[in-house]
Amino acid sequence: RSRERSIRSLMRERLSEHRLQLLEEAGRLAESMNHQVFAVGGFVRDLLLRRDVLDMDLVVEGDGIAFARALAKKLGGRVRAHKKFRTAVIVYTPPGEGENGLPPEEQKVDVATARLEYYEYPAALPTVELSSIKMDLFRRDFTINALAVQLNPEDFGRLVDFFGAQRDIKERVIRVLHSLSFVEDPTRILRAIRFEQRFHFRIGKQTTRLIKNAIQLKLVDRLSGARLFNELKLMLREKDFLLDLLRMEEFDVLKAIYPAFSMNQRVEKLLREIEKVLNWYALLYEPTAPRQWLLVLMGLTERFPDEDARGVATRLAIPPRERREFLNLRSLCVETLDRLNTWKYADGSRSGLYFILESLPLEGILFIMARTGDEDLRKHISLHLTKLSHEALEITGEDLIAMGLQPGPDFGKILREVLAAKLDGQAPTLLAELGYAERLVREMRRGGGSGKKRVQ
Ligand code: ATP
Repeated sequence: RSRERSIRSLMRERLSEHRLQLLEEAGRLAESMNHQVFAVGGFVRDLLLRRDVLDMDLVVEGDGIAFARALAKKLGGRVRAHKKFRTAVIVYTPPGEGENGLPPEEQKVDVATARLEYYEYPAALPTVELSSIKMDLFRRDFTINALAVQLNPEDFGRLVDFFGAQRDIKERVIRVLHSLSFVEDPTRILRAIRFEQRFHFRIGKQTTRLIKNAIQLKLVDRLSGARLFNELKLMLREKDFLLDLLRMEEFDVLKAIYPAFSMNQRVEKLLREIEKVLNWYALLYEPTAPRQWLLVLMGLTERFPDEDARGVATRLAIPPRERREFLNLRSLCVETLDRLNTWKYADGSRSGLYFILESLPLEGILFIMARTGDEDLRKHISLHLTKLSHEALEITGEDLIAMGLQPGPDFGKILREVLAAKLDGQAPTLLAELGYAERLVREMRRGGGSGKKRVQ
């Protein structure tokens, strides 16, 4: 039986006013529909760990979709329902202001239906009958994610812990719920490692044994590329992705995903540099976040022949557009690094740097920063990211028309030359830009082409 404990006060202390109200509302609504409703999973775990709580997952003993529709109505939100799975997602905008006076960001509440059923173990072990919330929790990946907190008014805040989750959170250990867990779903191997590193927990003894077994049985081979890629992306999004990868190597999971993967010294060193560059970039608070998985995959496959890089993309069933991007980026980075080295000795101008890097995706630029051992070059690339890439002309095509130029291919050329001048400090103001453009237009009229050939 579950040990009774209320975390009502913890919820009051940790949750925002509107979240608390939402949960209370959900409880009252369920009560009026004669249902039981629980908040479950990562939400409860993060509350107990006193970490910031992100999205909320609710489980309803009853009709989950009808409940979600009714709750969405009260919240002024929308519902996306999946009838087949009896689940729904509520998307709504919380009241009040978001950060910097902007409208608040949309939030999601996942709603699932729990029902009474018979659980049959995959390998014909005895069938057990469970109450529906217990059943729902039993199907989860680890004990620490198998906690629920009741929301109905009478029991609001009552913790439902059938599997020793509180003990495991206290002892900081990742444990599966039963010995066939990884057979049921081998992606849990990656999840175990991800949670272990994120929370600084450790994978329990028995669970460690089960992972080793699963690897030996080649269960990872059974996973579809899409599921594997999805779980890998979640892992590589973590701040501690490098520790995740090292741990994967320890368990031989990397090789199970693709045999040529290896965390040898060279790869590890490159990934450390990638980690440093990512941390540096995060401190800039730029609006675009790099796709960490792409950078890490570039690092892992740096020395791979193209055939193996394609093999990785195929094994992970990377969708066509991203696949092309990944494969192109590999050669693009090598070429760009060559061009940068030439530029450094033969040119050195800011505009030259800008035009080499402008069409390279952010991940490529960061990869090159990590890849080059040349501190000077790093500083130049950093200048590009923090400053040059944000530069824009004040003049536009309109100004060129006003100078009597007909719109045509020369337009772009002239604007790029003015931009080059601006980057190199020769056209620091609007007036200087106009003057520079006028001179180019005059030269063009005289010579029938743009004057200096400095822009490729
Ligand atoms: P995160 O903080 O990374 O979002 P989370 O615990 O919320 O962590 P999700 O991937 O959003 O993780 O999953 C939500 C919940 O669904 C988990 O807490 C877990 O209980 C359950 N779950 C997710 N994936 C699996 C799986 N492969 N097997 C069993 N249960 C899973």
